[in-house]
Amino acid sequence: MRILITGGAGFLGSHLCDRLLGEGHEVICLDNFFTGRKVNVAHLRGHPHFELVRHDVIDPFKFEVDQIYNFACPASPPHYQFNPIKTTKTSVMGAINCLGLAKRVKARVFQASTSEVYGDPQVHPQPETYWGNVNPIGKRSCYDEGKRCAETLFFDYHRENRVDIRVVRIFNTYGPRMNPDDGRVVSNFIVQALRGQDLTVYGDGTQTRSFCYVDDLLEGCLRLMNQTETVGPVNIGNPGEFTMLELAELTLKLVGGKSRIVHRPLPADDPRQRRPDIAVARRVLGWEPRVALEDGLQRTIAYFRTQV
Ligand code: NAD
Ligand code: UDP
Repeated sequence: MRILITGGAGFLGSHLCDRLLGEGHEVICLDNFFTGRKVNVAHLRGHPHFELVRHDVIDPFKFEVDQIYNFACPASPPHYQFNPIKTTKTSVMGAINCLGLAKRVKARVFQASTSEVYGDPQVHPQPETYWGNVNPIGKRSCYDEGKRCAETLFFDYHRENRVDIRVVRIFNTYGPRMNPDDGRVVSNFIVQALRGQDLTVYGDGTQTRSFCYVDDLLEGCLRLMNQTETVGPVNIGNPGEFTMLELAELTLKLVGGKSRIVHRPLPADDPRQRRPDIAVARRVLGWEPRVALEDGLQRTIAYFRTQV
């Protein structure tokens, strides 16, 4: 197949390029390089089935493709809050442009949605049937509401225009090729520990997240894309749940060194807890994560040792 990946030079998108090329597909990687980096796909230059296109998803684009994966959107809070209006535009216009293209060329189109659609959840763990608890006017809203609106567009194009959609809700995912300056917790803690700096735990560190290794995440995404039983939304994430203090302590144990844990103010609207209910992924996709947090962190630390 010929497959378009928007945001293909980012952390997840670049691994997806590798996976799909490895399966023998042609890949068009479209990116505006806001948070993505050419170095993430540098090893693919010259590959006969790979094309890299600099383009912004808020402007229309046309490619003759069989499948589209829409991953374009900054994912870390500092980056998506840097230009919040642009973040909403990227999610909403990007979705419209992907869906319009999918409709014209009859491609299957995949949306990288997020656990942020659940906001600061009052149901725990979060099943796909939960509608969420999202602040519509806060600093995270540009991302959360942009992604929620993108889901709305996907389901309306599906109902109104029979566009063949798939929607995944991705829970916090980590691994090699995260941007060291990205500001997300896993990359921050590892980079801080490797540099001998103190680890910055926001708030008291009792808030929880569930961390999925990139290979597991992509396996779930590919299974969702290539089956016909459900269009989603399907949660993909690792149900193992950790406090930020536990993550900081584990990172210190694995990296070694003299760093200590320091506390910094908790950002506004920071969700208290997050853990995916993955019963749907288990039942429909036969998927569950395989990589334990400690193993995935070891692999990610090995990558960052080459970067910092
Ligand atoms: P990332 O920031 O590394 O990748 C995003 C990519 O999109 C980058 O290459 C960036 O340059 C590109 N991009 C941003 N705005 C664009 C625009 N307007 N036009 C074209 N390209 C644009 O982040 P990631 O972790 O790889 O996330 C990829 C996708 O997965 C995002 O849509 C994100 O919302 C979603 N997601 C990720 C996670 C996670 O934990 N990693 C969790 C939930 C959802
Ligand atoms: N966090 C932290 N220290 C950091 C960066 C993040 O304690 O240096 C916390 C943050 O407040 C949140 C959690 O880690 O509670 C996950 O943050 P991240 O930005 O990685 O993802 P998200 O909040 O979008 O789930």
